[in-house]
Order: sequence, then C-alpha cells, then structure tokens
Amino acid sequence: MGAFLEKPKTEKFNESGMGNGIRYGLASMQGWRMEMEDAHSAVTGLPGHLSEWSYFAVFDGHAGHSVSTRCAEELLGAIVDTDDFKRLQPETAPSLEEIQKGIREGFLNLDQKMRHSLESNSCEDKSGSTAVCVLTSPSHFFFVNCGDSRSILIRDDFVVFSTTDHKPNNPDEKARITKAGGSVMIQRVNGSLAVSRSLGDYEYKNVKGVGPTEQLVSPEPEISIVDRDEKSNLVIILACDGVWDVMSNEDVATFVLQRMKVTGDLVVIANEVIDTCFFKNSRDNMSIVIVALPGAPKVDPDMAAKDKALNSMIEDRVRKLMFEDHRLDMNEIVSAINDISTLPDLPPGGGLCAKRRLIEDLHAKFLEEIKLKEETNSSQNAPLTSTNNNDISENNDQIPQSQGEQ
Ligand code: MN
Repeated sequence: MGAFLEKPKTEKFNESGMGNGIRYGLASMQGWRMEMEDAHSAVTGLPGHLSEWSYFAVFDGHAGHSVSTRCAEELLGAIVDTDDFKRLQPETAPSLEEIQKGIREGFLNLDQKMRHSLESNSCEDKSGSTAVCVLTSPSHFFFVNCGDSRSILIRDDFVVFSTTDHKPNNPDEKARITKAGGSVMIQRVNGSLAVSRSLGDYEYKNVKGVGPTEQLVSPEPEISIVDRDEKSNLVIILACDGVWDVMSNEDVATFVLQRMKVTGDLVVIANEVIDTCFFKNSRDNMSIVIVALPGAPKVDPDMAAKDKALNSMIEDRVRKLMFEDHRLDMNEIVSAINDISTLPDLPPGGGLCAKRRLIEDLHAKFLEEIKLKEETNSSQNAPLTSTNNNDISENNDQIPQSQGEQ
C-alpha cells in the first residue's frame, strides 16, 4: 500500500455517454501508486423494466484490484436480481422501502458470493473495495455508500447532499467494531484498515455468532433517497478519496460548475479535476464520474473566452520566463508565473493547480524549441558550415514553427 512509483502514470482512462436525459463523463488515473485498484461503472438506461433508471459507481480497491473489479462488473446485477427489484413495475409508483431493501440485499449478496468464490478457489486474495453508487429513477436519486469514496449532489450552485464517509472513528462505526471485539487505533480498524465498511476484506469478517453487518468491517451500504427536481440545475459527482483528500466538496463543486461554463465536454472536465488533484499532491489512484442532469450549466461564451484569454496569458508568461529570462526549471517557472502579476480568472476551487498541466505541456514544447535552437546554433558556429544560405533556410524554418504556437 505504501509503495510508490518513481515516475507517476498519468495516462487517463476516459468514457462518456448519455441517455434518459442524463450525460456523464468519467476519468481515472493510476498516478503514483504501484497498481491501479480503482474501478467504476456507468449505465444510462438499465435493462428490462428499469429502462428509465441509470446507475453510476466508483469503487476504490485496496490490497489488490480483484474485489473492486468484480464490484464494477457485478454490483448492478446483484441489485437488480433481488426479488425487490424484480417486483418493481414501471407503471406503479415503486415503494421506496422495497428499493432500499433491494439495494442493501444486493450488496450483502455480492459480498457473500465473492467470499464463496474466493474460498472455493482457496484464493489468498485479501483485497477489499469501497463502493459508492447512485441509482436514478424518474422520481428519485438513491445515493448508496459503503466506505470512504463519496458522492455529492449539486443543486443551483450549492452542495445540497453528500454521502458520509465510513471511517473507523465515526461513533457508530467504532461502536460496532468494539462490539465485535476489535479496536480502533491510529484511526484504523485494529490499527490496520482505514475504512470501516467495504466489500471483500474477509479477514475482518470472521467474528463468530454475529451477522454480516455486525462484523469488524461491514458490507452494509448507507442509502439516502433524494427527490428529483428537474427545475433546478443538477449535477452529481462520484469520486474516490484520491480526489476528496485534496479537494473539498465545495472545491470540486465550484470547479466543475465553472468548467461546465467553459466546455460542454464532461470528459475534459473530469480530466481537469484529476490533473488538478494530482498537482495538489494526491498520490493515490483517482477516479471521478461527473453526471449532468437536465438543467445542468451550459457553456457561456463569455466564460469560455475568458478561459482562452487566461490560457494565452499563461503561454506568454511561460515563453517569456523561458526564452527571455532563461528560467528552465519547471518548479521555478510555476512559482515565478504568479509573481509577474496575479493571474485573473483562475478556475475557482482549482487555482494555479488547474493550469499546471497546461504549464507542463508548454514547458515541454518550449524546451524542445530551445534545444533545437541550440543545436542549429552550434552547427552554425561550427567551421565550414556557416554560409548565408544556411542562415536563410533556418530563418524560413522558424516561421512556420512560431506560427504553430499560436
Ligand atoms: Mn483511494
């Protein structure tokens, strides 16, 4: 768990889709961790009689990815396979209690099923996974959480709902852990596991004489039901702790809402959140799903123009620092870039970290140009090769190059 790569893996996995009047975009990135243990799923329009329902989920695995991967593949099926969900009829208003019961049972069934298949394969796998998911019906949102990934609901610019992280120190969690004969040390279950609810983690689920939801670590989800209100601007975000550890709910909400006015591409925004968190020093795997409901913010041409102007201002500053002041060190450039004068319109909630990827890309590009220039200069200064003809062809070479930067 504690090990990190020498060089982070910054390639991102992306996916987007739409259906049921909902758009979503998602991004995930391994980052500094040795393995990618996060998983996710997103489905608009569930099969059969649930065609007006959608489902989004993030799973944060630990001690391996096998449980998180299986959750991504099987949790939705486990929920819709319960008798409570099979009974739901599209034409009658479903009972919220039945839905809640079905979701809970789906979680417990999947946890049992995975345990059986691990045991029957006598597998040494000790992995576990948090799960946060949102089911949307035509009338309600069902926020479902087990562990310390988190989902938030934004309505009209405000975070109006957030799931509660299941940490061993929470009074209810601590009470259950102690009752099961465990302890909470350094904010961890038995001084070891940092979440108090999860799927998998079967070595914490062996207390005799008590049910599956009274173990040291419980697979029971906490379910919150929120009425849908399509008159408001609604955005739902699900992410793992790699995001929430470095950005608050409000940071993420204001950032995403502002970016939605700059671009309509939710994948671009999801990538920007991940990059911003990475430059805010998150060293964990990161995953985020952004769900835009009808009435979510639309692109505002003024905001888009302001962001474009900010990007070219940053480009000018990086160019000046590198070509005129000969400052080539990335960290020096980042700290100097704001010294020139405060940059206007930096994305709220993200600040300069939100533009760090752009700065890095510019830095790499300009470094190439500087190298190229030095090479041509040195070949120019070499004896016998410096002729007028050479000079002209070099000047010609440089014209299309600098046009390409614009
Ligand atoms: Mn994590």
